[in-house]
Amino acid sequence: MSKPVLVVGAGPVGLIMAAELARYGMPVRIIDRLAARTTQSRALAIWPRTLELLDAAGCADAFMATGLRADAVSIHAGNRTLARIPFGTIASSFNYLLMIPQSETERLLAGHLGAFGHTVERETELTDFVGGDDGVSCTLRHADGRIETVEAAWLVGCDGAHSLVRSRLGLAFEGDTLPTGFVIADVHVAGLAIPPDEPAIFWHPDGAVMFFPISRGHYRIIADLGSIALHMPDLGEMQAIVDRRGPGGVILSDPVWLSDFGVNERKVRDYRKGRAFLAGDAAHIHSPAGGQGMNMGMQDAFNLAWKLALVERQDASPWLLDSYSSERSGVARQILSDSSRMTRIVLLRSPLAQRVRNFIVKQGFRIPVVRRAVANRLSGILIDYPDSPLNMGSARGLRGPGPGQRLVSRCSSKQGNRPPRFVLAARNSAEARAMIARHPALLMPEPCLPPDENGIWLIRPDGYVAAAAKSGNWTVIDMALTGVAGDRNIRTCDEIERH
Ligand SMILES: Cc1cc2nc3c(=O)[nH]c(=O)nc-3n(C[C@H](O)[C@H](O)[C@H](O)COP(=O)(O)OP(=O)(O)OC[C@H]3O[C@@H](n4cnc5c(N)ncnc54)[C@H](O)[C@@H]3O)c2cc1C
Repeated sequence: MSKPVLVVGAGPVGLIMAAELARYGMPVRIIDRLAARTTQSRALAIWPRTLELLDAAGCADAFMATGLRADAVSIHAGNRTLARIPFGTIASSFNYLLMIPQSETERLLAGHLGAFGHTVERETELTDFVGGDDGVSCTLRHADGRIETVEAAWLVGCDGAHSLVRSRLGLAFEGDTLPTGFVIADVHVAGLAIPPDEPAIFWHPDGAVMFFPISRGHYRIIADLGSIALHMPDLGEMQAIVDRRGPGGVILSDPVWLSDFGVNERKVRDYRKGRAFLAGDAAHIHSPAGGQGMNMGMQDAFNLAWKLALVERQDASPWLLDSYSSERSGVARQILSDSSRMTRIVLLRSPLAQRVRNFIVKQGFRIPVVRRAVANRLSGILIDYPDSPLNMGSARGLRGPGPGQRLVSRCSSKQGNRPPRFVLAARNSAEARAMIARHPALLMPEPCLPPDENGIWLIRPDGYVAAAAKSGNWTVIDMALTGVAGDRNIRTCDEIERH
């Protein structure tokens, strides 16, 4: 049997990483040093782009059946509503935010992984590893003290913010720690006069208090501490914060979880060293403002899994794996900058700055195009890879996305349990069928309807455009596929277009 990919960490990122590799038929092992998965609600928000990818992986239905659908988020100052941002304008079939505790997300992902015959090996800790040219020799310690050496083909560190894989690789976690902390409570809430399924943010001169619905009557409450040092809150302190900063008349009871947390904004420069990769919090951490951390981590996994599977099957050249770090690092830079900006806006302390902020938000969000732009940005559907080394051709003059942009196609959705394949979106012509016959290991056996019949698109297994061209310009598609299968093609888009 060929060597497995070893996934370290069974948080949400490790679980979806292992499940995607298993779905593509790869030998995989997933370990976690903890005896059981988290019971804490931690990450609550699953955004539309992650739901689209879970749908393509075949497990979105279970999430929808379990989570709470939020159709808008609102911002208030006392009893005054400054803004309400509806999610119905998000250009996705999942045009809402799914609220679901991380403990449930992990339960569902473990079930999804189980459908491929895999379980998490618990109480199994990675203690060391040595990378070689054709594998990674990993040392594992089991609960009974037994030491095992695993010869893995690849190592994927999904081992969280304090990643051992990252530190052993010597990759710096560059960034800052914010000077303020937050308190958090999962509690029963009565008397909150906003729709029960709607996250709501209340701004006050002292700071913010935010309500995120978990299930009927139960909310996650987060408040910043300003100059007060981090400490574990009790229900009385949370009630006092809500009384002072909230809309009034809100009663908290039955706390399930009370905690505090500081905010780090950090990322690694490279997500890969030799045969080891980082994904999720091991590679990037930031403020929970915008609820993007887990989403970004799960999307790391969707980006890497198909590339590893194609390279391991020798259907693609190893250079394909280099695109993982550059693509995902670009996304992390963007999201870190967005969440940092959002956090700093929430934490404004000067009364003048707060008045200006409230005025701009009230006026700005009256404009539908602003509301739509913010909702679509938060949703993750605008994430793209404009500088990907995979991109070829152009969609200039065509109605449809360009290289590096997302293209949700019915054919990419639910490809089932088989090796990853690109989708050719083109009219079903003799040329399209000839292209499929020329690249049978990389292309799905049937072409799919293109967004514009005057164009041809090559869609990656993770639903991003690898190449686009006007109808008839098959050279672009052929070169993109030849590049994936063989040597990296360093021609520029303009050179390709001239073919
Ligand atoms: C209060 C709070 C609220 C949040 N809200 C949101 C939100 O709304 N939306 C969002 O997207 N994100 C949110 N996040 C962030 C989110 O929780 C993280 O981004 C997410 O948990 C990261 O998942 P992960 O799989 O990368 O890492 P983790 O969940 O940290 O999992 C890492 C796993 O690796 C295991 N491990 C570590 N070292 C080893 C080793 N050597 N050997 C074996 N196993 C090991 C650990 O036991 C752990 O199970 C929030 C975080 C917090 C704290």
